[in-house]
Amino acid sequence: MKKTILLSIAFCCSFLACEMPLETETSKKNDPPKNIILMIGDGMGVTQISAGLYTNGNKLHLERFKVVGLHKSYASNDLVTDSAAGATAFACGIKTYNGAVGVDTDTMPVKSILEMADENGLATGMVSTSTITHATPASFICHQNKRKQHQKNAAQFLDTDIDLFVGGGKEHFEKREDGKNISDSLKAKGYVVSDFFQEPIKDVKMDPTKPLAYYTANTDPVTAAEGRDYLPGMSKKSVSFLKERGKEKGFFLMIEGSQIDWGGHANESDYIITEMHDFDKAVGHVMDFAEADGETLVIVTADHETGGYAINKGSTMDSLVTAFTTDYHTADLIPVFAYGPGAENFGGIYENTAIFDKMKMLYGFE
Ligand code: MG
Ligand code: ZN
Repeated sequence: MKKTILLSIAFCCSFLACEMPLETETSKKNDPPKNIILMIGDGMGVTQISAGLYTNGNKLHLERFKVVGLHKSYASNDLVTDSAAGATAFACGIKTYNGAVGVDTDTMPVKSILEMADENGLATGMVSTSTITHATPASFICHQNKRKQHQKNAAQFLDTDIDLFVGGGKEHFEKREDGKNISDSLKAKGYVVSDFFQEPIKDVKMDPTKPLAYYTANTDPVTAAEGRDYLPGMSKKSVSFLKERGKEKGFFLMIEGSQIDWGGHANESDYIITEMHDFDKAVGHVMDFAEADGETLVIVTADHETGGYAINKGSTMDSLVTAFTTDYHTADLIPVFAYGPGAENFGGIYENTAIFDKMKMLYGFE
């Protein structure tokens, strides 16, 4: 009897091996990625994702990811992180205090994954729906002992050779207390600098022979409900642009859906949902690229959850009954979605800083 069972198991296994390309998939998975795209939905906890999913016909592009993990989002000085410490954990691989932008608990600058990519000859970029000097994008390129120092952050965009950045905050670069014009300095470095006033974002020529800075607003861009719709399109264009600029050594791109968080702070479910849908469309374009490319690792996560958001009894898919426990962030575990070469490293439960460690390891940076 035992023999029969063993035989049939063996038969099953060999049958599976014949039917499924297990070996090919395994060897492909073991190749490191050439490019990494890190997508951050600021304030996007599991409930934000659930609300986005149900109100979108029970479907999201996030479902295309087969590897899902969870990270522990807390800061060094508080179980509830802010976006500065949260982004610094991904960018620099350190737990730091709330308000810290790219600096450690002693306020010393720590090199970011974007800066490492730049130093290693990769192309780099950031696209955000907040001002580009806001805590999340700033933590990848700036080093400040406290957040909201927009003018200081803007000046630090000259410290790397970032190939592309798109977001709000034109006035922090051009109308400054120190009288400097950072856009002019960027132009002197060879950048094409443009903004919403000079040309609509949909008309922006993305010439991969030159680095590009594009300001989507003077300060913070408007909401998706008010008509802001550039994140999906610019995500699509940015990956092609960086693929070309990084054709030798690869690229690193950070894409942020900033305002999911702001919907949580406002305790407005509709705000969260429209921003979730906008972010998920961007995820869809990035996944289309990554599936065709085969050399790109895509990671989608959040810095923290915002609002203590819940979907309660009486909800239907079309009409959610929601509630909030706070107008600030919470300490929930946060989902991490990964696709592409190296994605298998992102299953399980780990610290938010491990996302940096895994990216650095997969890039092979010293
Ligand atoms: Mg943010
Ligand atoms: Zn927030």
